[in-house]
Amino acid sequence: MLRASSPLPVSGEKGPMAAKSYAGAVRDEAAPRGQWGRAWEVDWFSLAGVLFLLLFAPFIVYYFIMACDQYSCSLTAPVLDLASGRARLSHIWAKTPSVTKEAAQIYALWVSFQVLLYVGLPDFCHKFLPGYVGGVQEGALTPAGVINKYEINGLQAWLITHLLWVANSHVLSWFSPTIIFDNWIPLLWCANILGYAVSTFAMIKGYLFPTNARDCKFTGNFFYNYMMGIEFNPRIGKWFDFKLFFNGRPGIVAWTLINLSFAAKQRELHGHVTNSMVLVNVLQAIYVLDFFWNEAWYLKTIDICHDHFGWYLGWGDCVWLPYLYTLQGLYLVHHPVQLPVPHAAGVLLLGLLGYYVFREANHQKDLFRRTDGRCLIWGRKPRAIACTYTSADGQRHHSKLLASGFWGLARHLNYTGDLMGSLAYCLACGGGHLLPYFYVVYMAVLLTHRCLRDEHRCASKYGGDWARYTAAVPYRLLPGIF
Ligand code: NDP
Repeated sequence: MLRASSPLPVSGEKGPMAAKSYAGAVRDEAAPRGQWGRAWEVDWFSLAGVLFLLLFAPFIVYYFIMACDQYSCSLTAPVLDLASGRARLSHIWAKTPSVTKEAAQIYALWVSFQVLLYVGLPDFCHKFLPGYVGGVQEGALTPAGVINKYEINGLQAWLITHLLWVANSHVLSWFSPTIIFDNWIPLLWCANILGYAVSTFAMIKGYLFPTNARDCKFTGNFFYNYMMGIEFNPRIGKWFDFKLFFNGRPGIVAWTLINLSFAAKQRELHGHVTNSMVLVNVLQAIYVLDFFWNEAWYLKTIDICHDHFGWYLGWGDCVWLPYLYTLQGLYLVHHPVQLPVPHAAGVLLLGLLGYYVFREANHQKDLFRRTDGRCLIWGRKPRAIACTYTSADGQRHHSKLLASGFWGLARHLNYTGDLMGSLAYCLACGGGHLLPYFYVVYMAVLLTHRCLRDEHRCASKYGGDWARYTAAVPYRLLPGIF
């Protein structure tokens, strides 16, 4: 499951009812709050995190990409050069490619093509792929009590895009397969333009013409609203859902194409593709394909069920995800590491094991929830903890928490599996540089913080029932340790 989620310390549903009123919005101040989404109020810690990320995240991305372009992926060399006076910021900036007409055209074509695949081509994969759930699917209940419908066609978009890529590489030759690498920095500026444009549009839309006014949240703090989003599920028309589109298409479909382009560049520069590059391509492709195969399940995850659409999803999906999740491939273009067979086998094993834990854990929860506990987990009837919660309209609902299988070992083993896979991608790059390890460090921060914020939310949503669950399953990510 892939998200450019923010490691921000976002507080859960707490504080007095301090939400501001807004055009078209109707909120019953007396109604109990549903336990969804981001905070209604901003504490200083959250605000500091928001300001830090708004100010520095674009520079972090630039720094990593520039370090590869100008310093062979050394993270320390630019700092040392600047500190010793060997380089000045203006020199580094002067050597940075600016946006080009070619990059702007490529990017515009790319995004338009993905929009076309998203809204213009209803899913046909579910008609011939047994077990695959596509076509029109329902999301989870929103705080205002709405159940949105989504056209699930991401697998189809991924397949068509990649078939075209392969056809171009072997038959059509419309463009070089190194096109992404060759325009990497000019494309970064285009991605930033889209990221900021969509986040700003989402903010304005939230105030002026929200898709569902009752599902908006306002804190009264401009920066927090901009970053964490106002609208829960902004849409244009019936089907163009911002969250589903921006997370999946410009971000995740691109991930595997970017890796393929990096592999092509490695071959062009060094005459061959290393086993490390193959490993990174294969392991990350499994993860990406898993996302699209399970896109309907993604509708029930935190991104869609709890996060509002703001800068951290809009800009994050356009810039952070495609640029920082692909650092391993970029690094391997500059450092073509050929791993000894036992090392490569170890990486493959860790990657596959991580994927298995991640997928199985997610699958167990999904199966349990879909069947209302009438299923088998590890061959047995699952242990369920009954729980109740209240939605924003004051309705009382019943649910269940799974305490068997991976969910009986720890409360978020799906995150642990994800982290094992993330570590495998990094280890594929050997031990020469820090840069490719950024991903696992980032994922560890992101998922630990996500785990804590999710648990905070679940605790306020389920109250004593959540306490019974945490007593039955005391560890979060590592059984016996944390
Ligand atoms: P989860 O799929 O773990 O969903 C958490 C929600 O599940 C909780 O809010 C609660 O929701 C419900 N829940 C919690 N415990 C139980 C239980 N015991 N039984 C039943 N339901 C339970 O979290 P995410 O949506 O964050 O993650 C989904 C996957 O995406 C993970 O595998 C994660 O690793 C991955 N991911 C990847 C990222 C990336 O950038 N690569 C970023 C973020 C996530 P409810 O209110 O319905 O009870």
